[in-house]
Amino acid sequence: MELNYVILFSLEDGLVIETVIIPCDRGRNTVCVSSQVGCAMNCQFCYTGRMGLTRHLTAAEIVEQAVFARRLFSEEVGPISNVVFMGMGEPLHNVENVIQAAHIMVHEQGLHFSPRKVTVSTSGLVPQLKRFLHESNCALAVSLNATTDEVRNWIMPINRKYKLDLLLQTLREELHRKKNYKVLFEYVMLAGVNDSIEDAKRLIDLVQGIPCKINLISFNPHSGSQFRPTPEEKIIEFRNILAEGGCTVFLRLSRGDDQMAACGQLGKPGPLQAPLLRVPQEFQMALNAPA
Ligand code: SF4
Repeated sequence: MELNYVILFSLEDGLVIETVIIPCDRGRNTVCVSSQVGCAMNCQFCYTGRMGLTRHLTAAEIVEQAVFARRLFSEEVGPISNVVFMGMGEPLHNVENVIQAAHIMVHEQGLHFSPRKVTVSTSGLVPQLKRFLHESNCALAVSLNATTDEVRNWIMPINRKYKLDLLLQTLREELHRKKNYKVLFEYVMLAGVNDSIEDAKRLIDLVQGIPCKINLISFNPHSGSQFRPTPEEKIIEFRNILAEGGCTVFLRLSRGDDQMAACGQLGKPGPLQAPLLRVPQEFQMALNAPA
């Protein structure tokens, strides 16, 4: 397994952000950029979320991460072909600067990446997501991670404001008018929380009518985390149910989790941390079960 590389950037005001290079032996090297210092979304499975939000990054601070990655790593790992906005922060919480940065990344006088290879990820800020789809031709990923409002309200509190139905209906309507455009749903598999056969069947129903691909991601445990990863054979079973239900589904088993450079593991929470939310009664046993 190839390891990821982490770059630590010290900003003008002394704050530190992390950028990750994810090499791929098929020549598809990806740079994962941060869009904020910390994050306000408080997703319960995410290490960055524990930090809370310190500030948004400027468009220049976002673009520079990709510029540096190209300069420093092209020789080491080969050309960087893809950019994902999946580092620290909720990109669409900083929508103005993120749209501008994405624009520079694809502009022929900028970094000239293909728009299909620049992906902005969101936890589901519906108005900003609409704006992004109207103003940018870059790709969109949505972190779904649950198939009921009850679970999503708990593990992704943004769902209390923008419910699953609204999020998915908005995507259905917006993607209707875009040609050859598919949203990527990210689904982090959490043992006993969102990985049941019922979840897989519900997920097939939820994404009906939305041009999409689904990416199943093995959870990377981090210190203080109350969640556990779904065993590999169960992830494969989940994947097979989705595939049989007609979904295009990929499976990303964990990479880089031994060096705190994997998805949801960036940053360093200080002494003041975002609160852990109450665990719904029916999931308390799943979280406390022996690994
Ligand atoms: S998963 Fe993304 S949106 Fe959620 S807290 Fe972490 S960085 Fe923020």
